[in-house]
Amino acid sequence: MYIFDQGRFLREPEVSVSVRNKGLNYGLGCFEGIRAFWNSSQNQLYLFRLFDHYERFRESGKSLHLNIPYTTDQLIQWTIQLVKINAVREDVYIRPICIKGEDTLRPDLLSPYNRLFIYLTRLDYIPKPALHVCVSSWTRIGSNMIPPQTKPIGGYLNSGLATSEARLNGFDEAILLTKEGKVSEGPGENIFIIKNKQLCTPPVSDDILSGITRDTVMQIAQKELNLSVIERSLARTELYSADEVFFTGTAIGIKPIIQIDRRIIGTGREGGITREIRSRYDQIVRGSNQGYLGYCTPVY
Ligand code: PMP
Repeated sequence: MYIFDQGRFLREPEVSVSVRNKGLNYGLGCFEGIRAFWNSSQNQLYLFRLFDHYERFRESGKSLHLNIPYTTDQLIQWTIQLVKINAVREDVYIRPICIKGEDTLRPDLLSPYNRLFIYLTRLDYIPKPALHVCVSSWTRIGSNMIPPQTKPIGGYLNSGLATSEARLNGFDEAILLTKEGKVSEGPGENIFIIKNKQLCTPPVSDDILSGITRDTVMQIAQKELNLSVIERSLARTELYSADEVFFTGTAIGIKPIIQIDRRIIGTGREGGITREIRSRYDQIVRGSNQGYLGYCTPVY
């Protein structure tokens, strides 16, 4: 595999980071997660919402004193090139990552030297079609701690603790609450509830990442299905009494949640609105919906 490393395409064994690297030692960095979807009937690979992912990446960098040393357009062009030189003809996950480049001990973010890599990977786990989840005993990191809006490397320790606890206790995934006890998000997913045909999802101020899948789902619900979507704080108990609940994320797509803390949600199966949104989303990301082609960058 070729990897993008600071403006060059290198074979993977040629790319290295020192064990002394400050980004590695203290988690000083941020990353993105982008997907490419293979459309076999069109013989085409589509990169989904590439511009929005790289804009979010650059904004993350700005908040974290991690200046991304390239323009969004450069990052887009290099990503297309990377996928091409790796001759990708299947679904693939793309990981841009920017870390502090220095090898010094002090954990500050002030050095202008940042390292930027982009690599490709297959998604290495296949989640179940519907999830049993729990509310985590771990609190979501807050905006004045490690800003969750920035995909900060160090922040994923919070995600890792929540996911691991959930798995050890026999659940598929966790839901994290804010320090005020409001519903926030999953360790790597946004959350929606549906009650009386209305979608509700926590606002960005409830310590969530402003998800690109979340935004796409809001558009599908409003424009395609004529449903109202409200961004508002959610109480934990609203999860249990919802008609449908689902996670959204680049890696996971749209994923129904059918049990929370051993309470059955709705009918205990994927709900009709979730299914409808999921099937529209799956068409959109593969370039099969004319109305959203502007979100899909063809590689070939
Ligand atoms: N929240 C967190 C903490 C995440 O890591 C992700 C995955 N990027 C999401 C939400 C979903 O965001 P997106 O739809 O942009 O992938």
